[in-house]
Amino acid sequence: MVILLEKYDIIVVGAGTGGCMTARTAAGQGYKVCLIDQKERDKIGEKACGEAIGKHHFDNLKISQPQGDELAGKVEGIDVFSPDSKTTFKVKGEGLHGFMINRLAFGQRLVNEALDKGAELYDQTTVLDPIFKNEQVVGVKVKNNVKAEIVEVLGKVVVDACGISSVLRRKMPLNWRIETDTQGKDIEVCYLEIRKLQTNLDDPELLRIYLNQKICPGGYYWVFPKNDNSVNVGAGIQMIKGFPSPKTQLYEHVFSQPLFKDSKIIKASGGMVPTRRPIDCMTGNGILFVGDSACQPNPIHGGGIGPSMIAGKLASEVVCRAIEIDDVSQSGLWTYNVEYMKGYGAKAAALDIFRLFLQKCNDDDLNYGMENKLVKEEDVLHASLGEDLKLNITDKATRVFKGLKKLSFLMALNSTAKMMRDVKSLYRQYPDFDGYSTWAQKIREIFSGAEKMEFGYV
Ligand SMILES: Cc1cc2nc3c(=O)[nH]c(=O)nc-3n(C[C@H](O)[C@H](O)[C@H](O)COP(=O)(O)OP(=O)(O)OC[C@H]3O[C@@H](n4cnc5c(N)ncnc54)[C@H](O)[C@@H]3O)c2cc1C
Repeated sequence: MVILLEKYDIIVVGAGTGGCMTARTAAGQGYKVCLIDQKERDKIGEKACGEAIGKHHFDNLKISQPQGDELAGKVEGIDVFSPDSKTTFKVKGEGLHGFMINRLAFGQRLVNEALDKGAELYDQTTVLDPIFKNEQVVGVKVKNNVKAEIVEVLGKVVVDACGISSVLRRKMPLNWRIETDTQGKDIEVCYLEIRKLQTNLDDPELLRIYLNQKICPGGYYWVFPKNDNSVNVGAGIQMIKGFPSPKTQLYEHVFSQPLFKDSKIIKASGGMVPTRRPIDCMTGNGILFVGDSACQPNPIHGGGIGPSMIAGKLASEVVCRAIEIDDVSQSGLWTYNVEYMKGYGAKAAALDIFRLFLQKCNDDDLNYGMENKLVKEEDVLHASLGEDLKLNITDKATRVFKGLKKLSFLMALNSTAKMMRDVKSLYRQYPDFDGYSTWAQKIREIFSGAEKMEFGYV
């Protein structure tokens, strides 16, 4: 039996960071919002996560910083280690100040805030399908997991914030020009443990990222200190054919290190994160995509909490305006694409070009590149904040790479920096609805060029 529920202004699918921010913003403006999540109420927010988030997100979104149970430490910067451990990039600065959080407590705060603003929560409810009427999404078909009932929830607009499962995006009609699939090469498969150490960690305010293509092909492993001498330790590996298990890699290469001797496992979990540029079009008729369902995490480090919250707030504001003027069509919701892509989207797209370059590097490339400081530490910081990638290809570095018969590496790095600038500029001119196809074609050509770029020994 299918039961029909009352009609909402906005249905938000997924009560993660993106969904809660969407629901909270719209409910705060007086709209009738329902928030649906498959998890039970008390488990919302629990997921595999490195638990690091930048302070600037809280400042920009004007939400209160983590405190009490949510806060697990302050972050002052990141140390990035070369594969041979000979070079450490110390990336520090105000833009990298942040927090280590306890993910469940943080998620609970966000869902409470959405409910306090008036959103209604359907927990333990799995969204199965979009409901279409006259080529428009008008609701979702869901299963109440306790009563095993199928229910239809209707709304003026659906916001899909269900994370990487992208359950609704996969079912969008092709003529809406929304990419319905995320390819494995654009996903990192991760495993992490929270461990209590027996030895004290120096500089507990610094996150540690270890590049090593043999241990984590196409990704990295991390050690992020939390309070009480515990650490969040994990590995992310690009999901391409034959990829090794991140858990096996962590146990063989990381937990065998002296730091982890007699450490105790507090929690273990696995998950996936999309690491490509946001999907080119994030709206359809009556629907928008927010967070991982729109591939919004930072392509270099996979941090997606901040972007999902930025997008959630923006999506809500656009939806509320569209409802007011009674145009929730794809073009009526288009401003969401334009505003997001001009801001965080442009930075993410440029970093995605850099990600494609880094994933082609072998450990020697990374060792030599870092040792010769082809990008300076302060410029890594600037690039991570969205500025252009500034290269530091000195005469000495050129001689070193010539000696290695790897001049093509420097040329590829140069082309990468140029493509990053080009892409950013195109994103800042994200088109109106009618100009989309031409724009998307240009973007696809640049990314296809970046994917095909090679640098061998010449
Ligand atoms: C191992 C790992 C480490 C990470 N580390 C960091 C980090 O340190 N810092 C950072 O900023 N980001 C990190 N990320 C990325 C970050 O967790 C995500 O980008 C962010 O949580 C995205 O939020 P979201 O709201 O889009 O999705 P999610 O937080 O995944 O929320 C989606 C919600 O939708 C619900 N849902 C899914 N399908 C359905 C369905 N069919 N019906 C109903 N409900 C559904 C889920 O239960 C969930 O609550 C990490 C990711 C992983 C996997």
